[in-house]
Amino acid sequence: MIVARTRNDLGEALAGAWARGQRLALVPTMGYLHEGHLSLVDRARELADTVVVSIFVNPLQFGPSEDLERYPRSEARDLALLEDRGVAVAFVPPDEEMYPDGEPGVTVAPGLMERRLCGAFRPGHFRGVLTVVAKLFGLVRPDVAVFGRKDFQQGVLIQRMVRDLDMGVEVVLGEIVREPDGLAMSSRNAYLSPAERREAVGLHDALFSARRLYQGGEGRAEAIVDEVRRQVGGHPGLELQYVDAVDSDTLESVTTATDDTVVALAAFCGATRLIDNVRLGGTAP
Ligand code: AMP
Repeated sequence: MIVARTRNDLGEALAGAWARGQRLALVPTMGYLHEGHLSLVDRARELADTVVVSIFVNPLQFGPSEDLERYPRSEARDLALLEDRGVAVAFVPPDEEMYPDGEPGVTVAPGLMERRLCGAFRPGHFRGVLTVVAKLFGLVRPDVAVFGRKDFQQGVLIQRMVRDLDMGVEVVLGEIVREPDGLAMSSRNAYLSPAERREAVGLHDALFSARRLYQGGEGRAEAIVDEVRRQVGGHPGLELQYVDAVDSDTLESVTTATDDTVVALAAFCGATRLIDNVRLGGTAP
C-alpha cells in the first residue's frame, strides 16, 4: 500500500491507474477506523480495481465549540488495517496540503437540505463536508465513492451534490455496521465512559422499537417519533437533540410513514454527541 501525504505523491501513486483507465474507488474517512469504515472498504473493493482511502480530519466541518482538537487519531493502526484490507493507496494529507491558502474562498453550498436534521444544529458543517469531498473527488478522480448510511444526511447531500454539479462520480451508500448490542459503530464512541457506553445503546433500541411499531401497522409519523422520544426519555443518561421522520430523498418531515421513511436522531450521551437512524422498511437486525 502506498501512503501518500501530498497531492503530488497521490498523483504519482494514481498515475498508472488513471493511464490504464482502471476503475477507481474512493472511501473518505476521518480515521480512527472501525468495522463500519472497513465494511465500506470491502464494498469499494468489490466495485473497483483500485481502492483509495483518505484519512483527513477536516477542520472545515467542525464548529468552534466542537471536538476538532480532541478527535481520536490512530494513524499507524489505521494504515495497518487498510493494508490488511487490500487498499492500494492511503491518502493522509496534513491540513496545509488540503488547504494551502487557509480557508478556501469558494465552497460548496448545501442548499435548503442544510436546514434539516443535524444541519440545523451544526451551522457550516455540511458546507465543510461537501467542500472537502468535492476536493477529494478532484484529487482522486474516482469512478465510485463509498459512504456510510450512518451519516444519513451527509450521504443524501453528497448524492445531491454529485447530481446538481454533474461530478460524474457514482455514490454508493453502505449499511450501518453496529456493535453486537446494536450501538452504531462510531469513532466518537471512544469518548464514552463505561456507564455512558451502556446507556448509548438506548438510541438503537428506541429507533428499532419505532421500526417495529411501523412494521406492526402504525403509519402516523408523529406516533413513531413519539415512541423514540418516550424510549430515549427513559434513559437519564441520554438527551435527545432532535428526532425526525423524513423522506429519504428530500429530508422533509413526513406525516405518513412509508418503508422509505428514515427516522434519524442526534443525542448527547454525557458530553458526546451521537447520531443514528433507521429506515422503517429495513430488515437489518
Ligand atoms: P468518519 O470517519 O466518521 O467521517 O466516517 C467515514 C465514513 O464511514 C462515512 O461515510 C461514514 O458514514 C462511514 N461510517 C461511519 N460509521 C459507520 C458505521 N457504523 N457503519 C457504516 N458506515 C459508517
